[in-house]
Amino acid sequence: MSGFRNIFIKTFYKIGSFVPTRLLLNITNQMLIIPFYHIISDENVPHIRHLYSIKSVKRFMHDLDFLLKVFKPLDYIEFQELARNNKRPVKPSFFLTFDDGLKEFHDIIAPILIQKGIPAICFLNSDFIDNKDLFYRYKASLLIDYLVNNPKLISDKKVIDWVSTHSNRTKDISKLFLSILYQNKNYLDDFATLINYNFKEYLSIHKPYLTSNQIHSLKNKGFFFGAHSIDHPEYRFIDFGEQIRQTKGSIESICARFSLDYKTFSFPFTDYKVSKQFFNKVYNDNIADISFGCAGQKKEIFSNHFQRISFEMDYLTAKEIYNSELLYFVFKAFLGKNIIKR
Ligand SMILES: [Zn+2]
Repeated sequence: MSGFRNIFIKTFYKIGSFVPTRLLLNITNQMLIIPFYHIISDENVPHIRHLYSIKSVKRFMHDLDFLLKVFKPLDYIEFQELARNNKRPVKPSFFLTFDDGLKEFHDIIAPILIQKGIPAICFLNSDFIDNKDLFYRYKASLLIDYLVNNPKLISDKKVIDWVSTHSNRTKDISKLFLSILYQNKNYLDDFATLINYNFKEYLSIHKPYLTSNQIHSLKNKGFFFGAHSIDHPEYRFIDFGEQIRQTKGSIESICARFSLDYKTFSFPFTDYKVSKQFFNKVYNDNIADISFGCAGQKKEIFSNHFQRISFEMDYLTAKEIYNSELLYFVFKAFLGKNIIKR
């Protein structure tokens, strides 16, 4: 998300929470909201806890109660119908989405959604299903966690030497791990080898991702699935050919494995700086029917591409996040900046 929007929401969320949501909806006429989450858990999950705040079950239930009070839940079929006809719902509606295909979607989230009668879609990385591999950012969080629990390692000569050869600025090893980009993700594997940390072992013991069996069973219960790239690169840092390979490869693999008759995709990280050519190719060649970004409440020039709002911002409630997002929308409307230009 853009830095300014983030600051705006964090500054004005209290004001936002006092303004009635319906009033903001009437002013902005934004009848469709697409929230996204990654994980809900009461545990302090090691592969995520150094990356972003994890919403508890209680806070998630609170978010859902707010959504159900104001909006009608849509399932993917209803959503697809609106998108196909380039329409927006007449009544305030929400379409709930989850990224990264984590096991908590099966263990924690789905049972709550079934109980409340809320449909949802979960976006999967094709390389990570069945715990075959691990997202490089999760590796960064795990290594930070390991060093927090083994602080003596930080003064170990081989660790100090590694930091000095891999960093030109920071001496803070946590910051260094968090700054590693997709194209250098092997640095994290090298460091793990250096300190004898085994990611495969973590995968086999903790099984952070959904398994094929769980996905089949959730599909039979009415949940929807989409692709989230092969192994979660940030699209602006990979070339056009690789962007298409990651998108097409993950959609084809997931649709075939789980017999899906729709092709939907959510961008890993962000669609920021992804070109017009990319969207034209994806829609013209039928690579995807619908795609999702995460730039907040914004309009898109591509009618099949939808922006979503993260509901995992710090420890704010859904109402605080959504209402301040709409305040931001009003603010940007004055500047004529609510349409994403590509
Ligand atoms: Zn993701």
